[in-house]
Amino acid sequence: MIPIKNEQELRCMRKACRITAAARALAGEMVRPGVSTLEIDKAVHDYIVAQGATPSFLGYGGFPASSCISVNEVVIHGIPDHRVLKEGDIVSVDVGAYYEGFHGDCAETFACGEISPFAQKLIDVTRQSFYEGIQFARQGNRVSDIGHAIQAYVESNGFSVVRSFVGHGVGANLHEEPEVPNFGAPGRGPRLFKGMTLAVEPMVCAGHYAVNVLKDRWTVVTADGSLAAHYENTFLITDGEPEILTVTDNNSTVITKEVN
Ligand code: MG
Repeated sequence: MIPIKNEQELRCMRKACRITAAARALAGEMVRPGVSTLEIDKAVHDYIVAQGATPSFLGYGGFPASSCISVNEVVIHGIPDHRVLKEGDIVSVDVGAYYEGFHGDCAETFACGEISPFAQKLIDVTRQSFYEGIQFARQGNRVSDIGHAIQAYVESNGFSVVRSFVGHGVGANLHEEPEVPNFGAPGRGPRLFKGMTLAVEPMVCAGHYAVNVLKDRWTVVTADGSLAAHYENTFLITDGEPEILTVTDNNSTVITKEVN
């Protein structure tokens, strides 16, 4: 059963998603040579808490941090630590915030200083593949129409899409129905209806899409050691264009908690 959110639930969800998006932007501003991933995570944590929200990832399945920070060949679920970022790294930051009963979830890969044109292309293709996909996120379409468009765009650019991890419904639970793969044939899976809220999150590898999970049971790396990028937003299915919920106001990372 895919949850359909009513207007009141969506009001809360919009707030959660705005806090989440601002935390992502804050993390992006901090990505530069010499900064540790733990410092970025602490800033994300403190920002989310200062907004009166809770970091969705902290303690989720035992995850030890408020953000996933995944550098270079790490695809997703990198655990923030004392690793210091260096010039040329690409740094994926995934964040979630829980506010008044609802979660937001979003991610983006950021350049650390000057990066190679190849790495920049990987970031750009990954981000654009999200927008290619959500063109199909319309009432009446099926879930797999989204992933089919993502895969076609990514592969036409010479990259590959991870199969082992997928997007998902998001709302009162961080992960809820339906699963949203970033690949596959169109016309499959549940139909999309107004009021569904989804997190679509292409994970794109420069080489082969096979991945391994490290001994820490979290860190997901490309099996061939190639670079990977990640881009994610939470959005709402409407009776027209999808509405992206993980957005910030006027590019500002500063939002204050609304009363009522
Ligand atoms: Mg997600």
